[in-house]
Amino acid sequence: MNVLRTFMDRLSAWLESASANIKLVDQALSGMQGSYVELLTLLALGLLAVIPIIVPERHRQFYRRLNQCFGILIFIFVVYTCLGVFGMIRNFHRGLMEIGRENIIALYFCSVPLTVLVTSMIFGPTFCGWICPTGALQEFIAIPLKRWHRARRKAGWPCTPAVLTLTGLVTLVFLGWMAYLSVTRVFFVEDASVYWSEVLVILLFVLAFRMARWDKALRRLRWVSFAIIAAGAVAGWRITSPVHFTFSKVYDPASVLSTIMVVLGAILVPQIWCRYLCPWRETIAWAGRHSVRRLETRHDTCTQCGQCDSVCGVEAVHHGTVDPHECHLCLKCVDTCPTKAIRLVDQWKVEP
Ligand code: SF4
Ligand code: SF4
Repeated sequence: MNVLRTFMDRLSAWLESASANIKLVDQALSGMQGSYVELLTLLALGLLAVIPIIVPERHRQFYRRLNQCFGILIFIFVVYTCLGVFGMIRNFHRGLMEIGRENIIALYFCSVPLTVLVTSMIFGPTFCGWICPTGALQEFIAIPLKRWHRARRKAGWPCTPAVLTLTGLVTLVFLGWMAYLSVTRVFFVEDASVYWSEVLVILLFVLAFRMARWDKALRRLRWVSFAIIAAGAVAGWRITSPVHFTFSKVYDPASVLSTIMVVLGAILVPQIWCRYLCPWRETIAWAGRHSVRRLETRHDTCTQCGQCDSVCGVEAVHHGTVDPHECHLCLKCVDTCPTKAIRLVDQWKVEP
């Protein structure tokens, strides 16, 4: 027990020092009227949003992974005001409230969420599939488990001893870490990301037993998640989210724990956070409804082979039929389809 506590103490100390002063520049790139709007962030995010459009189709998934890696680095070393998926909603609300009073402050708080929303409106949910660091972490952890996930999906996500054991282990990590943190910390609303982790652990058990039955219905939890965060923003609560600790200079152990839970959860259920809990996923799906880029299936050339199903991490496609509300526009199905039945339609692109 003492060894474990020493390990946790060292890990916490390392995380605390690692999350201090890691931004590339001490202030955002350029000052405007005494305030600092995140111009470097806007430029970086704009670039990340444009890359998916200009990369060649050949080796597209390699470039996508690269873009995701840059996304992680940019959010850690450049972005100031994002503060994770929850913080973006809170900041957006705060920025909207400042319009007409302190327009530069309004721009400061709205800039990152607006960039994400506007690029989603134009280019579709590319942020989810190509940029989001939370999404990327979940995808990366699942790479070595690809075959296992495909087999489980094909078999209808059966409840097996391996799944139950892993679910139990993930729960133990959560309970043990909570017990460790509880010795020195009282959890307040600022630490609310741990409550999302609790929901995630409960989800893991439900999904371990009946994933095929509950998957679709549970995706509505994203709306609940969004409503709570939006209400919290209006009420002025400072709720932090998974991965928030990487954006902030203040060490946030609750966010560290919730990030670890999201990553561990994705071992059992691919993209578990995106599927069931991410409030931004709903917003981005809504924003991208009329984007210029969308997937189209030529059903006359689809052979119903199901290869697109097997590569999609969020089960947004079934035998060529894509659910645009769930799709992250990662284009894995487009690149995998042997008959090119699924294709990306870009209304702005002039066809040769
Ligand atoms: S991979 Fe292509 S051919 Fe196979 S089911 Fe999907 S769309 Fe149809
Ligand atoms: S449907 Fe295709 S593009 Fe959309 S998330 Fe699934 S694999 Fe990616």
